[in-house]
Amino acid sequence: MFIDVANIKIASGKGGDGKVSFHREKYVASGGPDGGDGGRGGSVVFRVDDNLSTLLDFRYKKKYVAPDGENGMGKRMKGKDGADLVIRVPRGTIVRDRATGRILKDLSDDAPFVAAKGGNGGWGNTHFATPTRQAPRFAKPGQPGTEREITLELKLLADVGLIGFPNVGKSTLLSMVSAARPKIANYHFTTLVPNLGVVRVAEEQSFVMADIPGIIEGASEGAGLGHDFLRHIDRCRLLLHLVDAAGSEGRDPLEDVQAINAELAGYSEFLASRPQIIVANKTDLLGDDRAMLDKLRAYADAHGYGFLELSAATNQGVRELVNQTWERLQDLPPVFTYEPEFAPEDEAQPVTERDITIEKVEDYYVVGGAWIDKIMGSVNTDDYESRLYMDRMLKNAGVYDRLEQMGVEEGSIVVIGDMEFEYIH
Ligand code: GDP
Ligand code: MG
Repeated sequence: MFIDVANIKIASGKGGDGKVSFHREKYVASGGPDGGDGGRGGSVVFRVDDNLSTLLDFRYKKKYVAPDGENGMGKRMKGKDGADLVIRVPRGTIVRDRATGRILKDLSDDAPFVAAKGGNGGWGNTHFATPTRQAPRFAKPGQPGTEREITLELKLLADVGLIGFPNVGKSTLLSMVSAARPKIANYHFTTLVPNLGVVRVAEEQSFVMADIPGIIEGASEGAGLGHDFLRHIDRCRLLLHLVDAAGSEGRDPLEDVQAINAELAGYSEFLASRPQIIVANKTDLLGDDRAMLDKLRAYADAHGYGFLELSAATNQGVRELVNQTWERLQDLPPVFTYEPEFAPEDEAQPVTERDITIEKVEDYYVVGGAWIDKIMGSVNTDDYESRLYMDRMLKNAGVYDRLEQMGVEEGSIVVIGDMEFEYIH
């Protein structure tokens, strides 16, 4: 079965608690503090795996929990970090926040994506020793992990999408031009799973072609199979629109082409405006009557589409189709990828003082609390845009005002999540 949408829950691990302990040794009267730090909780990380082609696994397993960090121990021993939980997904999987529907990440490249960051381990009491307080009897607890509900949606990555009614020859064409071996049969909906094939044009020249299950009339309104599958051609750079030019199933070929394009328009403008090549297939069945080809060509010209004649079954026109497709791709933008969508700032939830805690621990200002954990769990601190977003969120939530009230000074150290920075007015 082909599963291309799934809802799952993820949870990162809690950080281990810092330890309160004192050095003990024979003949040493009173040792100093030696409580180690807690380990960091495991993060939940998504990664692309090209051996996967569906989200089927997520139908059976719905909850993904990374382990907690271990507590700190005596003798300055740090607790072990919780291992990251890596969730493997097919290339082209879009990760969304389920509640808001916002895109968190488009997993189209190989960079891992941290969707829930593990909680930081707490500091052991060794950190809190000062010349005036040589035996600190406190340590910091580990920070909680983050729980999120996630929607995964697969939108295949292919340069070229094959579209057309069932039985027009899409699978046949894909099998002729690539090593993919889709099912070919003379009945509708043989293709229930999108098939991807790599089409080699010449050395170092290739493109990816996707065979999408037949779109049927009414697909964009949810009839039949088509609707679910339209998302897979959503980001193809070019559509090869196959039509049974011989009308061998009794339909009118021109009406077929118009019906499919109406379905695309019903799904999205974005998809309807995608470049197309109308491919008149099954020309071997046409005999001498070329009138239909002229009609289809006129339709293509009128809409700015390319036009090609083909007989996939007898390999007539296949080479020409591959070459023309390749040439056309050279002028087209790369496969579309989605940018993460940050929450609009005016939507930043009203935050009460309880959601954000600010403690002064020695010279440090430690900012924490449920809201902070949530924000930090979704912020990629290696990314500039993401940091700017965090900065605005903190400002809007009044964190900076509160720090000022507490007497924060230029250059004071502020600890937020695993970030430590100098305060600048
Ligand atoms: P799909 O549903 O669009 O993937 O269509 P298939 O590739 O499964 O083909 C449906 C039927 O049409 C099969 O019986 C194919 O052998 C046949 N077919 C495909 N291309 C041609 C062609 O160019 N000429 C003829 N005569 N039959 C074809
Ligand atoms: Mg097929």
